Amino acid sequence: MFANVCTRCGTQELVFTDQIRSLRKTAHGFDVRYVCSCGATATWHVDRADAPAAAQAA
Ligand SMILES: [Zn+2]
Repeated sequence: MFANVCTRCGTQELVFTDQIRSLRKTAHGFDVRYVCSCGATATWHVDRADAPAAAQAA
């Protein structure tokens, strides 16, 4: 679970694991693609150094 701001509706909300669609590794960490409650697909960019423990477990 993590908090992120949706780029479509601008709402900051908690994102739960059942909203996550994919996890892609990048050079600096990973991108988490998830579906917001408004229906938009959004991406959360995570820097490995800044990654909270909850994100690493996801
Ligand atoms: Zn949204």
